[in-house]
Amino acid sequence: MMETKKYPFSWEPGWSYSRMNVLRTCLRMYWYDYYGKRFAPERDRNRIMQLSQLSRVAFEMGIAVHQTISEVLKDLQINGDLIPLEEAKRTAVNKFEILVNNKPLVEKRYDIPFSEEDREERHGKIMTSMTTFYGSKWLTMIEEMPRETWNSWLIDPVGYGEFRMDGKKAYAKPDFIFEYRDNRHYLVEWKTGKPRRDENLVQVQGYLFYANDILGLPLESVVGVVEYLTFPSEKPIEVEGRLVNPMELKNKIMTELKLIESLCSNITENKPKDLDHFPKTEDLDICRTCKFREMCRPEL
Ligand code: SF4
Repeated sequence: MMETKKYPFSWEPGWSYSRMNVLRTCLRMYWYDYYGKRFAPERDRNRIMQLSQLSRVAFEMGIAVHQTISEVLKDLQINGDLIPLEEAKRTAVNKFEILVNNKPLVEKRYDIPFSEEDREERHGKIMTSMTTFYGSKWLTMIEEMPRETWNSWLIDPVGYGEFRMDGKKAYAKPDFIFEYRDNRHYLVEWKTGKPRRDENLVQVQGYLFYANDILGLPLESVVGVVEYLTFPSEKPIEVEGRLVNPMELKNKIMTELKLIESLCSNITENKPKDLDHFPKTEDLDICRTCKFREMCRPEL
C-alpha cells in the first residue's frame, strides 16, 4: 500500500481545477463559493451556507457513477470477481435516484424543470458511463496484473488531494491509481461531464505533481489519464510524466495560482479583496442555474 503524506492546515488559497472552473465562470460566484461564508455580512452567512450546499442533477449523476465504479473496483480487489455489467448499471441508476431524491438541488429550489424525459436521458448516460468503464483499457490492464498486486490499488484516495508545488498549496486527486507491468503508475480520472480537453489536460497534469509530492512517485514513472465515460467516442487523455516538461507545467499552474492570489487582499489569511473586484457575469443563462441566484440576482 502506498503511503500518503498530509500537510497541516493553513489558510492561504490553493490551486485546484474546480476552483479555477468557478473563477472562470463568474467572479461573483467564486466569491460566494470561496469567501461568502467567512466574509459576507453576518446576516447573510447562514443563507450562503445553505445555498452553497445545493447540488445539481448532473453533479449527482457523476457521484452515482463514481461511487459505483469505486464499489466495483473494491469488490474486484477483495473477491477477485467483476460484478456483471448489468448489475453495475442498475446499482448506478439506483444510487442516482436516491441521491436526487434526497439531496438539496438547485433544480428543486428554483423550479428548474426535470422531466421524465430528462430523467430517462440521465439514466441512459449513467448506463453508457458504466459500459465505457467496463470496456476501458484500464480495467483490462488491472486484470492482467497478478492478483497479489491488486491490494496496492488506491481507489478514491483519502483526503482532498492537497500537495505543494514550490511551497505553494494546490489540490488534485485522481479517482484511481494502479501500477502496471511497465513499472509505471496510472492516475485515472473518470469524467462524466462534457470533455473540456484543454482544462482537463491541466487537471491531469496536476495529478503528476500530486503523485510526486504525496505518494513519492517520480514524474517519469507516472501516467495521468482522463477517461470520458459518457462520451465513449472521445479519446481518453493520456499524459506520460516522462514526456512532460516539469517547468512548463509548473508555470502553467503557478500562473493560475497567481490569478487566485491576485483576488486576495491578504494571501496568508486568504482574505478577499472588496466585493467590487468580483463582478457578476453578464451571461444570464449561467445565473439561471446558479445556486446563489436568489441572493445575487433575485429579479430572476
Ligand atoms: S447569480 Fe449570476 S452573477 Fe450571481 S453569482 Fe450566480 S452566476 Fe454569478
